[in-house]
Amino acid sequence: MKLFKCTNCGQLLYFENSTCECCKHSLGFIAEDLSLVTLDPDTNGFYSVHNNKKPPFKYCKNHEFDVCNWLIPADGTDIFCRACELNHIVPNLADPEHLRQWRLIEFAKHRLVYTLLQMKLPLVSKIQDMEKGLSFDFLTEADATQKILTGHENGLITLNVNEADDDKRELSRKQMNEPYRTLLGHFRHEVGHYYWDRLIADGPFIDEYRQLFGDEREDYAQALARNYNQGPPANWSLNFISTYASSHPWEDWAETWAHYLHIMDTLETADSFGMKVAPRIADKDNSLKANINVSPFQAQNFEELLDLWLPLTFAMNSMNRSMGNQDMYPFVIQPKVVEKLSFIHRVCYASRVN
Ligand SMILES: [Zn+2]
Ligand SMILES: [Zn+2]
Ligand SMILES: [Zn+2]
Repeated sequence: MKLFKCTNCGQLLYFENSTCECCKHSLGFIAEDLSLVTLDPDTNGFYSVHNNKKPPFKYCKNHEFDVCNWLIPADGTDIFCRACELNHIVPNLADPEHLRQWRLIEFAKHRLVYTLLQMKLPLVSKIQDMEKGLSFDFLTEADATQKILTGHENGLITLNVNEADDDKRELSRKQMNEPYRTLLGHFRHEVGHYYWDRLIADGPFIDEYRQLFGDEREDYAQALARNYNQGPPANWSLNFISTYASSHPWEDWAETWAHYLHIMDTLETADSFGMKVAPRIADKDNSLKANINVSPFQAQNFEELLDLWLPLTFAMNSMNRSMGNQDMYPFVIQPKVVEKLSFIHRVCYASRVN
């Protein structure tokens, strides 16, 4: 994630900010150029960008619920932004608990959409393209007749709203024996299934995909049942980023894809802060050093990024341990997984739409 700056007072701004903490100007995010801008209200109820001649903007309709700070052109007929137009079902807001949960969900989803736009991947709502578009259902158990499973089907991502609650999510994480479980991680995994359909299925990368991840025509239900009943293969960590990835080639793709997005977003954040890791004891050992001064979205070669990523994770894990927290990055990447991540990097590069 990039950092931003108030163009009125120079204050450092974060992606989710709607108001400048220092000068109290309203702020809004413009998806077209991925910028968070300082706003001046105009006399028509719209906003102009401070010290800038861009045409006026209005806030996305979801701004009124304090779940979105994105802007849309004032003169258009759209009422939702690029991120919110992907919503199909949102929680019933008659219950204030749902608003609190939805806000956390939107924070994560907006970050996801930001990264997809940075990657210049094809991204349309089902409103524009029913067949190939993407949409989200955020479902609560009170409205359901059956258990709500988080998942993806034909471009529709379903999320159980309970995943917004730390206690419930942590319980699931322990029951499933996962090292990591977050809302953002769920979104990254599920959108991976969506992009498998868009970028891999029936496309030029399918053969290479099958060589690396296996043949996805293997029976999916049987594969998942086997993983559930027998657990992962003993040597799973040599070939997979997680135990769940070993269940089926589709899940391997989605897990590795999610991991790829973790790396890209976190490296962009590190670049925004100009982070540099140079352990004093490392001396001439460059494998422990990283000077992060490149946007990961500009890097052609994934191995270059990995050379920065590993020293950064060693440092971040140590920082977390100093605070008494668990490791920020509870993963080990083996060479086979590097091959898969590099493949995803190449596929994404080749699939850019503008
Ligand atoms: Zn300001
Ligand atoms: Zn919005
Ligand atoms: Zn999955």
